[in-house]
Amino acid sequence: MKKIGIFGGSFNPPHVGHIQSAVYAAEQLGLDRLLLMPTWQTPGKNMPDASPEQRLAMLRLAVRGQEKLTVSDLELRQEQECYTCDTVRTVQAQYPGAEIYLLLGTDMFLKFRQWRHAPELLRTVTLAALRRGDKKETSALEGEAKILTERGGKALLLDNPVLPISSTQVRRLLAFQAGADFLNPGVYEFIRQEKLYDTGARFVNLPMAQLEPVVVRLLNPNRVNHVLGCRDTAVALAKKWGADEVDAARAGILHDITKALDGPLQLTLCRAYGRILDDFSRKYPKTLHALTGSLVAERIFGENKAVVSAIESHTTGKANMNLLETIIYVADYMEPNRDFPGVEKLRALAFTDLRAALKLGLEMTLDHLKEQGGEVSPASREALAYLNANSI
Ligand code: ATP
Repeated sequence: MKKIGIFGGSFNPPHVGHIQSAVYAAEQLGLDRLLLMPTWQTPGKNMPDASPEQRLAMLRLAVRGQEKLTVSDLELRQEQECYTCDTVRTVQAQYPGAEIYLLLGTDMFLKFRQWRHAPELLRTVTLAALRRGDKKETSALEGEAKILTERGGKALLLDNPVLPISSTQVRRLLAFQAGADFLNPGVYEFIRQEKLYDTGARFVNLPMAQLEPVVVRLLNPNRVNHVLGCRDTAVALAKKWGADEVDAARAGILHDITKALDGPLQLTLCRAYGRILDDFSRKYPKTLHALTGSLVAERIFGENKAVVSAIESHTTGKANMNLLETIIYVADYMEPNRDFPGVEKLRALAFTDLRAALKLGLEMTLDHLKEQGGEVSPASREALAYLNANSI
């Protein structure tokens, strides 16, 4: 009996994680053919997205030379969202009597039971889960596989080599002129030629009205309000203390521009920009978004030195901070979406004694890290020591 696999997804764009897992699954499951099937999807508003035809073309480039992998346009041809149960029926008709395997990454596998006609699907296909390197993934996968088996299904957990990357992160990296490491060279070339995913965009000196939607699409959606709040607070503080309001607005809106990248991807960006890191940053790459944000502000958005420097010091602070650096540090801490004990005191202080607000922010950070057993960045220690030694 033939074994046919189906691996569906938006493949927007297809990355090395997709292909590496597909090749592994085809081999491990002994598949005769693995169909990689891009879904139909309409791009989000204001998204510089790839068309269905471009996603298909990229996937064809990505599987070149992989004997068992075939790109199928079955769903794309329908020009509407398809249900997997219908797709499986069509594949069964194309390969009569074949055993069908449905390949799903962890995120999809854990949502499978919510799919339309899931119980029926569970009776007709074997599910195979691919790991993605998410936190606590193994126990979640094992728990779900147990439930599916109890319901009469066949669910296999594959031990594929993990590459923790997603298309969303690749799109972000591409906008920052990085990301080639996660793409087949042919796919990368195609993206550049077709100027997909912001690779052909000019972001230098964008007016605020155009900068805002670009920033919004590069952030995690749950960070947008914080970033806009920080921009508005920075402008209010700049007005109060006589700093440049345009610089304050631009540093405020750009300060977390790389925050959506996790630690390893922060390191990827530093490598792409040829940046050598100190010990603390290598050990705690999560704090690196301030440095990478400043590099992106400079290289991609063409911001001036004052803005770049304010972004670089916004997380840890540093000794002898200038007015704009202080404003961004404090605005980040107290913008209207922040809610923690002491924030009201900080808000009041920021409009009466900015330096005292900076000192309070640094002290609260150090206390919080102490409580949590986290290591304090040398820059924060130096910032506080400077303020203590130079009190007015
Ligand atoms: P997006 O970030 O746009 O959601 P994605 O990288 O998750 O994209 P999709 O095209 O939506 O990719 O996913 C297709 C299938 O590939 C899904 O089942 C998904 O879980 C799986 N998948 C995606 N990335 C990986 C990876 N790095 N390793 C293993 N499986 C993956």
